[in-house]
Amino acid sequence: MKPQEDKLKRIIGHAKEYGFVFPSSEIYDGLSATYDYGPYGVELKNNLRNYWWQAMVKLNENIVGLDAAIFMHPTTWKASGHVDAFNDPLIDNKDSKKRYRADVLIEDHIEKYRVKIEKDVAKGIKRFGDSFDEVQFRATNPNVLRNQAKIDEIEGQFKSLMEAEDLAGVKKLIEDLGIADPETGSKNWTDVRQFNLMFKTELGSVAGDSSDIYLRPETAQGIFVNFLNVQKSSRMKIPFGIAQTGKAFRNEIIARQFIFRMREFEQMEMQFFVKPGTELEWYEHWKSARIKWHEILGLGEENYRFHDHVKLAHYANAACDIEFNFPMGFKELEGIHSRTDFDLKSHEEFSGKKLQYFDPEDKENYVPYVVETSIGLDRLFLATLSAAFVDETLEDGSTRMVLRIPHALAPVKAAVMPLLKKDGLPEKAREIIDRLKIDFNCQYDEKDSIGKRYRRQDAIGTPYCITVDHDSLEDNMVTIRERDSMKQERVAIEDLPSIMNQKVSMAQLLQKL
Ligand code: ATP
Repeated sequence: MKPQEDKLKRIIGHAKEYGFVFPSSEIYDGLSATYDYGPYGVELKNNLRNYWWQAMVKLNENIVGLDAAIFMHPTTWKASGHVDAFNDPLIDNKDSKKRYRADVLIEDHIEKYRVKIEKDVAKGIKRFGDSFDEVQFRATNPNVLRNQAKIDEIEGQFKSLMEAEDLAGVKKLIEDLGIADPETGSKNWTDVRQFNLMFKTELGSVAGDSSDIYLRPETAQGIFVNFLNVQKSSRMKIPFGIAQTGKAFRNEIIARQFIFRMREFEQMEMQFFVKPGTELEWYEHWKSARIKWHEILGLGEENYRFHDHVKLAHYANAACDIEFNFPMGFKELEGIHSRTDFDLKSHEEFSGKKLQYFDPEDKENYVPYVVETSIGLDRLFLATLSAAFVDETLEDGSTRMVLRIPHALAPVKAAVMPLLKKDGLPEKAREIIDRLKIDFNCQYDEKDSIGKRYRRQDAIGTPYCITVDHDSLEDNMVTIRERDSMKQERVAIEDLPSIMNQKVSMAQLLQKL
């Protein structure tokens, strides 16, 4: 097993054992690509959603929130293009009977050339140290240039085939590149077919009286159809944004890789409405604002990279992904898309209602252009877990497993522990919890030795352990131990709220934005 796969397996096991993520309906052997969040998982997820929501809605005067229904009028999905075009090209391997996305097979093949380039660059850095000119090396090294040319060639071919809807050509490209089933090595492929990803259900209970509706495959359309409701009721002037978080559903062909690709997942989307012609400036603005948001989150700047889209979606005039270095390699975490006026115009056409904005300065009506930022909360959760998951060898040679979740996002912020279960220590510990719990999620823990309790808290990522001992009853001081450094300090109980405020509050993150 490759070390990365091994890491993913361990994360999945850890997430289950410690109450972060469970397979859905597990007693019935689970349901593929659906997961449930346990007690610590739901806290972490709420904190991540909060960080996003506050950064978007609280810190930007010109962004407001919305919570639209999952069910929408079926015509919505005609207008948005999802009924006709929300397809993935799928291909089956005849020997293994496994199904794959043709674009993913090709993308994974291309990734091999990228890895070669990065290896050459890493060698150069190792050999020449500080004197290594990476930019020049990438622009001139024959190996790098050859591999880059190969990437460009394959991407170019794939783009034109998809634009021409030439699925036979896509199959031929897969064969020409010698792409084999990643699991079995077989090259015995079926034809490529298009597969619509929307889940269909029925509205209405009487046979013949029902109509087909869809579970939303993205939250964005709820924002578009409410564009004027929101703009008028909150008196927003362009440029302004509408933010929304909520469930989305896709009948994914490859539903593997834990919570990276689920059939039911949560999105956090923001549609930013701008004056036509200014969208590419705003696109750049949101690219830098979003990468900054990620960097401040604290999962390691080296774990992110931008990836420009080769095949633009039917609605976009510029698009990129922010990719994260997951245990399976760099993969999409967030999409940033300049969606033009495609959606609003299309909803105007299908609904017969105007979705225009009167610009008070220019004294004209127009359909705004839209720049969207769209991030999957579950993928952000996996990114956080995988960056946080660390096996550490300590000075005394022993090991510990610690989740270095950024402090402000940790499910439990402090564990309060009486040294013994007697002599008034539990009561003192509970007094401390009562003081802290309004602002911080705390846990009371009195079982086992202090060492074991520390390990238990390390494994769920609790940043601070506060121990109450006999001296605490006399001097009102406690020992506070920090998760990552394991440093212990004696502090006054009355200072705990302000210490916690400085170290673990969400404000600490938001202030850096
Ligand atoms: P991919 O290419 O990986 O299928 P996408 O380009 O279809 O993703 P978007 O339509 O741009 O994804 O959706 C926006 C975000 O929603 C993605 O960046 C991702 O974080 C999240 N997302 C999309 N599909 C899933 C899924 N099946 N499970 C979990 N998160 C998802």
